[in-house]
Amino acid sequence: MRSIRSLSFLSASLVALTLGGAASAAPGLITKRGPFPAEGAAEASSHPLLERAARKVVGDQLELSRGLSFGQAKVVELSRGDRVVKLRQLHKGLPVVHRGVAVTFSGGVARLVSARLESELPDDVTPDVSSELAAAVAEERTGLPVVSDQIALALWPTPDGVRLVWALGAAIPGMPYQPVTVVDAKTGEIIYVYNAVVSLNQAEVFPSNPEKSPVVEAVTLPVGAGETTLQNELIQSLNCIDQQTVRPVDFMGFELDVHTCDLLQTALPDVNGDFLIPPAEDDDPEDAFAEVSMFHHANRAYELFRSWSPTLELNGGQPLPTVSNLRIPQGFDTFDLADIANPDLPLVPFQNAFFAPANPIFSTVFGLNGAAMWFGQGPVNDYSYDGDVVYHELVHAVVNATIQLVGTPHMDEFGASPAPGGMNEGLADYFSSALTGDGDVGEYASKDLRPARSRSGSSRTTTRARRRSAERCTKTRRCFRERSGTCASGSTRPTRPRSTRRCSLP
Ligand SMILES: [Zn+2]
Repeated sequence: MRSIRSLSFLSASLVALTLGGAASAAPGLITKRGPFPAEGAAEASSHPLLERAARKVVGDQLELSRGLSFGQAKVVELSRGDRVVKLRQLHKGLPVVHRGVAVTFSGGVARLVSARLESELPDDVTPDVSSELAAAVAEERTGLPVVSDQIALALWPTPDGVRLVWALGAAIPGMPYQPVTVVDAKTGEIIYVYNAVVSLNQAEVFPSNPEKSPVVEAVTLPVGAGETTLQNELIQSLNCIDQQTVRPVDFMGFELDVHTCDLLQTALPDVNGDFLIPPAEDDDPEDAFAEVSMFHHANRAYELFRSWSPTLELNGGQPLPTVSNLRIPQGFDTFDLADIANPDLPLVPFQNAFFAPANPIFSTVFGLNGAAMWFGQGPVNDYSYDGDVVYHELVHAVVNATIQLVGTPHMDEFGASPAPGGMNEGLADYFSSALTGDGDVGEYASKDLRPARSRSGSSRTTTRARRRSAERCTKTRRCFRERSGTCASGSTRPTRPRSTRRCSLP
């Protein structure tokens, strides 16, 4: 499904000019890198104060801007905390299309000023062609009625100078087509026609995984209508962020204080509404790309099953949360209660990925009451980057919601069921390979089992985790692929109750 948006039609014209390469009288893009002192910006919690600081920086740094006028600011907050103040250029109250200035603040300092400004502007901004006549010209061209609230007088830079124009928008409801006709307001000549609908929620992800398909490709994320974070009716993408939180947990009769991460949504759209967050280092513990990758791949698999079973619910009618960058407190491998509770010790890598149905311990620790997919930030690699594994685990969620294959006998409405857990793994691998068109599964994530390279303390955990993992695989045969040793991470034992359906990676 393709998400679309219609920008305000004059905003979209900026895009159209850029993409269409329509020539303009343009002065080039001016960029000036700071830091520039910006009095008041550090304390500017409100947008008007920041706007005032931005205008001052523009006046100080861009001689060309002096004497020009600008409209009200638009302030955009980026995911990394920067704030961008955008000011459109105006002339005699009319917008000068594709012209304006942006100031980027990091903390209290202006780091970047970028501008495209027009200084040769017409004195006469009175149209000779009426809006009604311009609308008739536009309708004849597009065959569609002009929408009454999409008629604007504007100044339009061209190679022959800035022209006074009518911009007139039309629309077909439900169709990704909104033609805007630009008519010269002095002559009635059509200057330009473009489609104001552009795609939203663009992102770039690894098609399957960074090992097999290392070049990211463009995708459109199916973000829910009106949402500004990665969620929709199927999936809610979360990130494990260490805010030094300590929570009391009742663990099999023990009262423990446990240092845990908080589950937050850190992937935020850029100024264009896109999530073009590049991949981070493989061992980056809190990167937002992991959220993007999870959201894309989890939705892709969920949508496949929904195409066969439109009412399929994997989490009782709620979106299925996915957790990226899962890490755990230090001290679990030695059951050191002081370390487990110590928020000053960094969380350590979690070397696995799994699906878990509703689980009281996870509810207490993380505040999630239903099922969820949990993906570790391993010592070497980030499990969320591997689409194969996302598909595999999502199939476990489908099995959980449907045919309920587990590795141990259980009761259902027909009595005791010895349903084979191995089938669960087989189905998970099958559908993962079907989605990627590749018989290999999890080539990238399984490389997390190499000895850790750089993280302090992680190699010890890794070695122990591997040994326990191998033991557990042998004992329980829960894991489909013991040979890869990827069954489970020993360091996860305290948060994994017996009822949890997990497997790990392919
Ligand atoms: Zn599995």
